[in-house]
Amino acid sequence: MSIFDKRLKGVRAPHCKNTMDSATQKMPVPDKVYICMSQHMGPPCDVLVKPGDEVKVGQVIGDSGAFLSSPIHSSVSGKVTGIDQIIMPNGTRSKTVVIETDKEQTYHESVKKPEVTDRESFLKAVRGAGLVGLGGAGFPSHIKFNPKNLDEVDTLIINGAECEPYITSDYRTIMERGEDVMTGIQAVMKYLNIPTCIIGIEDNKPKGIARMQELAKGVPGVRVQSLVARYPQGAEKVLIFETTGRIVPEGKLPADVGCIVNNITTIAQLARFLKDGLPLIAKCVTVDGGAIAKPQNVQALIGTPIKEVVDFCGGYSKEPRKLLMGGPMMGTALYDETYPILKNNNAILAFDESQVEGYAETACIRCGRCVRSCPMNLMPLRIEDAFIKDDYQGLQDYKVNLCIECGCCAYSCPAKRHLVQTHRLAKARLRRWTQEQTAKEGGKG
Ligand code: SF4
Ligand code: SF4
Repeated sequence: MSIFDKRLKGVRAPHCKNTMDSATQKMPVPDKVYICMSQHMGPPCDVLVKPGDEVKVGQVIGDSGAFLSSPIHSSVSGKVTGIDQIIMPNGTRSKTVVIETDKEQTYHESVKKPEVTDRESFLKAVRGAGLVGLGGAGFPSHIKFNPKNLDEVDTLIINGAECEPYITSDYRTIMERGEDVMTGIQAVMKYLNIPTCIIGIEDNKPKGIARMQELAKGVPGVRVQSLVARYPQGAEKVLIFETTGRIVPEGKLPADVGCIVNNITTIAQLARFLKDGLPLIAKCVTVDGGAIAKPQNVQALIGTPIKEVVDFCGGYSKEPRKLLMGGPMMGTALYDETYPILKNNNAILAFDESQVEGYAETACIRCGRCVRSCPMNLMPLRIEDAFIKDDYQGLQDYKVNLCIECGCCAYSCPAKRHLVQTHRLAKARLRRWTQEQTAKEGGKG
C-alpha cells in the first residue's frame, strides 16, 4: 500500500472516549436560560418575543425568512426578562433571549404531532422541528433534505462515526435511542423516496455497531457499515467516499453524487418530533477533559449556561487551561463559561495544564506530514506560503476553498504551524479578493 493511499489519509488521534459507558444524565431546569439567535449556518433569526412576555416549552421565539435558517424554540416555560447581545466565539455578535424559568415546563399549544402525509408536509415538519446538523455543522436539515436533484438521490448516509476524540454523545444516542434512529431513517427513506441507507459507525464502537445491526435486521434497504477508526471519518465528503466509493467533485454537493448525509442524533430527534411534535429543546453533551471532576454525558436544555453544566459534573477538579465547545480537533475555544448550550453543541471539554501544549511555532521543515495527512489531498504548507505572500492566485491554485478545517495538518505538524487558522483566514481573504476582482471586471464592462 502506497503512503499516498486514501486509507492512510487523516490522523490516528487518541480516541479518549472516556464517557462511552456514561448513561446520559438529565440536568435540572436552570433558573435562567440564554437562547441565542445564531444556532445554525446562515443569518441569525429575528427575535419574536419581548421582555415581559410569558413563553412556554416549544414556542417559536426566533425565526427568519432567509433561505439558510431554522426556527428557534423556547426550551423552558417562564418569562422573558431581556434581549441581550452576546459575542460568539468567532467574534460575531448575536441577540440572545433571556428567560427566567418557572420550572413548570408547560408545553406550548403548538407542540403536537405533525400531520405528515407526503414529501411537502414532511419537509415542513422538519423545518418546524428546528432541526439542524447536530454533529456540529448546524446546517438546516430541511434544506439538506430538499436538494434540487432529489430524484437522483439513491442513498441516505447516517453519520454515526463520531471520529473526534473524547465525544461520545452520538454513541449514547445509538445505545439509548437506537429505535428512534431507525424510525427517523424509515421516515426519511419513505417521504424522500430513497431506497438505500448506510449507517456508518467507526470500529472503535463495536457495541454501537452490533446494536444498530440488530435494529436494522429485516428493514429493507438499511445496512450498517463499520468504518476504520481514523479521524476525520465523519467529515461529509470522507464519509461518502468510505461508504459508497463516490467522490464529490469540487463545487458540487453530496446530492450531486446521489447522497444525503445526516447526523445520527439529528435523525433520532426527527423521530421524536414526528411522534409528539416536541422540537429541539435539549441536547446530549459530553463533558470531559482533565479539569472536569466527573466526566459524563448530560442532557442539558438549550440555553443553559456552560458553567452550570460544568457544575452539574462536579465542577473543576483542576484549574482549566482551555475550555472548548466541541472536540479537540474542530471545537471552538471559549473565552467565557457563561456562554450557553447551542443546538449543535455536542461537547464541553475543559483541559488542564498537562493537556495544553505550549504552542511556539518554529520554521516549516518541509517534512510533508501535513500533505500526507490531509483528507482533501491539499498541500497545507503551500497554502500557508501563498497566504503569507498575499498570493491570491496561489491560494486559488492550491484550492484552499476545499479545506474542511479538520485540523489534521496542524495535528501532524512537528513545527506546530498554525495551519488551520491560516487556512480559515486565507479562505475569507480569497473570497474578498474574488469579489473585488469580479467588481473590477464588471467596472471594465
Ligand atoms: S488543509 Fe484543511 S482539509 Fe487539509 S488537513 Fe488541513 S485543515 Fe484538514
Ligand atoms: S507538517 Fe509542518 S513542518 Fe512539515 S511540511 Fe507541513 S507545515 Fe512544514
